[in-house]
Amino acid sequence: MTPTRTDADTPRTSASGHDLTPLTGDARERLAAALTPEERRVLLHQGTERPFCGGLLADKGPGAYHCRLCGLPLFRAAAKFESGTGWPSFYQPFDPEHVAVHRDASHGMVRDEVVCGRCGGHLGHVFEDGPRPTGLRYCMNSASLKFVAEGDARGQG
Ligand SMILES: [Zn+2]
Repeated sequence: MTPTRTDADTPRTSASGHDLTPLTGDARERLAAALTPEERRVLLHQGTERPFCGGLLADKGPGAYHCRLCGLPLFRAAAKFESGTGWPSFYQPFDPEHVAVHRDASHGMVRDEVVCGRCGGHLGHVFEDGPRPTGLRYCMNSASLKFVAEGDARGQG
């Protein structure tokens, strides 16, 4: 008996109208092949880039930050704030369903790891010392994100 595959045949759509159907292992590998070694290290192996080194720290103007692996929009530029940590920081996700949070007890700390709600790629961690209105600080790696300017259709879908 071969086990029934359930990961790819359960279509899901978020409240904001985006496809959340999990990627098959094959699709994930195809997308991962296009990543740089640093992006792979962060997204697929829970790496953390060095502070003040990422490409998305500075404000990029209106738009959204998408998952570098599967393209799902994760954070709006409007929710970005300067945290002073050296990593791009946001106070709320694009859609609550677009990110998932897991308890992470590695490195001798207990933290809340944030992963992409669709592909499971590692994004960063969330802390409870952010600004109003949420009080949350999503501390992200630039390597996990891709900025798409408002009105720019490339990179959508
Ligand atoms: Zn993703």
